[in-house]
Amino acid sequence: MALIVQKFGGTSVGTVDRIRNVAERIKKFRDRGDDVVVVVSAMSGETNRLIEMAYQIEDRPNAREYDVLLSTGEQVTIALLSMALNKLGVPARSYTGTQVHILTDSAHNKARILDIKEKNMRTDLEQGRVVVVAGFQGVDEQGDITTLGRGGSDTTAVALAAALNADECQIYTDVDGVYTTDPRVVPEARRLDKITFEEMLEMASLGSKVLQIRAVEFAGKYNVPLRVLSSFDEPDFDADGSGASGTLITYEEDEMEQALISGIAFNRDEAKLTILGVPDKPGVAYSILGPVGDANIEIDMIIQNISADGTTDFTFTIHRNDFESATAVLTRVSNELGAREVVGDDKIVKISLVGVGMRSHAGIASKMFKTLAEEGININMISTSEIKISVVVDEKYLELGVRTLHSAFGLEQKTS
Ligand code: ASP
Ligand code: MG
Repeated sequence: MALIVQKFGGTSVGTVDRIRNVAERIKKFRDRGDDVVVVVSAMSGETNRLIEMAYQIEDRPNAREYDVLLSTGEQVTIALLSMALNKLGVPARSYTGTQVHILTDSAHNKARILDIKEKNMRTDLEQGRVVVVAGFQGVDEQGDITTLGRGGSDTTAVALAAALNADECQIYTDVDGVYTTDPRVVPEARRLDKITFEEMLEMASLGSKVLQIRAVEFAGKYNVPLRVLSSFDEPDFDADGSGASGTLITYEEDEMEQALISGIAFNRDEAKLTILGVPDKPGVAYSILGPVGDANIEIDMIIQNISADGTTDFTFTIHRNDFESATAVLTRVSNELGAREVVGDDKIVKISLVGVGMRSHAGIASKMFKTLAEEGININMISTSEIKISVVVDEKYLELGVRTLHSAFGLEQKTS
């Protein structure tokens, strides 16, 4: 039938019982005749436990040994899952990243996948076996174990699906898909049947932490259909053999009737800094942002006002954790440039409307601003891209803002 890569996160394999459930689920796909390659995370909490132990020994754990340590979590789950499958009469074999030969660069703790040897996996599949692969890990040219960064099992799954040209990559997690917004903020939030890679990237980077962003980028690049679904729901099947539940992340299809807005993302961890009365001359933006970048502080939105009387104001947003260090850098820069003053606010949040549908529709921004105005919510900053409009508002308005926008754009209603 189909070749499916299924990835199960830490919660889904958090206990031996849950590992057994995962095996039952895989069996259902095998019984239908699907070929299945499985990628698993470590049991929930295990990677954190390993990290803690490393830090008990040294403040800056040796990068090579750290990866040897962290990769053990996934080695436990591949073995247990394979045993559970075999016990159910489903032949299965486990492989570490090194055994598959998932070749990566040597950037320990954040390695990138360069190449995957599919030969062994193909042989197993041909012989009717389920292939169970440890997520999050690979091996470099020297034969050293590497890991891919937190949440990296998602990327392993997508990379395997791309290498094997799988029909679908299914990411099983503890939520049953991607929602129009966080259901904890808006109980009426609706699960999306489909979302494009582009939209998912905007949603993910803005705080809908369902998937590792790199995995989504990878899937978009290699056009791997990616489905997010719950490992606790019963699997249901489409006529074409793919799982029909959850949210499918895929390419934009012309005939797909587009909602104007697909979702509302938000980010609570924002702070903004303004440098007032900067002499307005070439090189100023660079002299302000250069030192901030040198201090490894990531900048999100940037606004430079038009200048009056030869000076201008310059505002940008950063992660709240960087607020103090960025203030220090900016105060220094301000003195050097002869600017008037540095002011900051670390009680702000960002709310973003995301949707490929807005590309072809004017008026989304004005509707957004009107909706917020009617609630008396003041907008501090605005930024737009092709498929996203973001505003920065006072943090006390986060819930109210997201809720009213969600209903103003009719997101709780079924559109497809
Ligand atoms: N076990 C690793 C982590 O906790 C990788 C993963 O779960 O995706 O980050
Ligand atoms: Mg994960």
